[in-house]
Amino acid sequence: MKKIALHWQILIGMAAGIGIGLIFNQFSWGNLIITDWIKPFGNIFINSLKLIAVPLILASLIKGVSDLKDISSLSQMGLKTIVTYILTTLIAVSIGLGIVNLIQPGASIDEDTRQELLDAYAGDAELKKQDAERQKESGPLQALEDLVPDNIFGAASDNSNMLQVIFFAIFFGIGLILIPDKQSKPVKDFFDGFNEVILKMIDIIMLAAPYGVLALMAALVVEAPSADLFYALLYYSLAVVSGLALMILVYILIVWIFTKKSPGFFLKGISPAQLLAISTSSSAATLPLTMERVEEHMGVDAKVASFVLPIGATINMDGTSLYQAVAAVFIAQAFGMDLTLGTQLGIIATATLASIGSAAVPGAGMVMLVIVLGQAGIPEAGLALIFAMDRPLDMLRTSVNVTGDAAVSMLIAKSQDQLHDPQVKNWDDDYPKK
Ligand code: ASP
Repeated sequence: MKKIALHWQILIGMAAGIGIGLIFNQFSWGNLIITDWIKPFGNIFINSLKLIAVPLILASLIKGVSDLKDISSLSQMGLKTIVTYILTTLIAVSIGLGIVNLIQPGASIDEDTRQELLDAYAGDAELKKQDAERQKESGPLQALEDLVPDNIFGAASDNSNMLQVIFFAIFFGIGLILIPDKQSKPVKDFFDGFNEVILKMIDIIMLAAPYGVLALMAALVVEAPSADLFYALLYYSLAVVSGLALMILVYILIVWIFTKKSPGFFLKGISPAQLLAISTSSSAATLPLTMERVEEHMGVDAKVASFVLPIGATINMDGTSLYQAVAAVFIAQAFGMDLTLGTQLGIIATATLASIGSAAVPGAGMVMLVIVLGQAGIPEAGLALIFAMDRPLDMLRTSVNVTGDAAVSMLIAKSQDQLHDPQVKNWDDDYPKK
């Protein structure tokens, strides 16, 4: 029997999940069935992906860095990666600002709806504000200080410390480059093997992907707020969605121009990761699949992918920065505020930094939005206005975040002469071992 491609399997799972959610929503007992009996399988699926994230980063990054052979190619690639990530984020925020000024979605919100939204979500908005307060209380160099863990097991024990794990892995890799071959060989061989095991584990987890996303989508449907509020935020959502779609076009174009890889090649390669990002709303949970797709299906050498992607998953969030720009201006418009050019330029800077600081987990972009609002002098209570649509938009912006990482990894691979013809390995390629 011909195997159905992974993106179709995931799409079918998502559609079935939405269908099941809608059907069960009709019955009073339906929600309970979904949350008690179906949602846990979605959580198990997400947990198993998150479980892989830290060992994956450790193994692949140590292997990737030590394969580079010398420190100068590492620093060269590092610099290129960071600069490209910042450039794509700046493009994203600018697109967001352009669109929100063009569509003016805030102007279409009438007084009653605004009050209704503010009343309905004031409590939730306050929680996000408190989260943001905690992050804001730190000094200017806090982010740098946080990069260096004081205990690697402490860092590895919490998925929100991904940057610390990345720091350790790069540092370890550098040490490995600098010691004589005789000593480094067994360590490298170990991480080589370790990396292969992790990749195989990802293959196994992905066998459950269609069922995992089914459970996640069914739970999302029964937990969604009423559709009326969606309509009130239609123009706002339209602004975010069209900005995100434009950003995908930008990636396709950049990849096409710089690597000569066709839009079809790029989209076919990355689509399963995009769909998983939509289902999980987390770049970190999607990272294992993003790495696999980029390496095996898009031809990016493991040396590049294992360096560029984990860093991208944590700091490159183009979709998030675009959303933050649109949301900030939308809230200002809804409150009847006129933002000066200076304030809007300020939003470009803060949204870029806030997206770098956002964790790769569901809803993180909204927490950091509080900081963007604060800097621009927009009332933070306005967060309540956009709450109802946050989850669906989070799903879409996460998908863009992941696409951006993949696009940049192709550019960096091309510039390092490390973009090859893809070599697809199926999960059971060499099973049973001969
Ligand atoms: N959920 C997003 C991500 O993981 C972050 C955000 O925008 O909330 O990439």
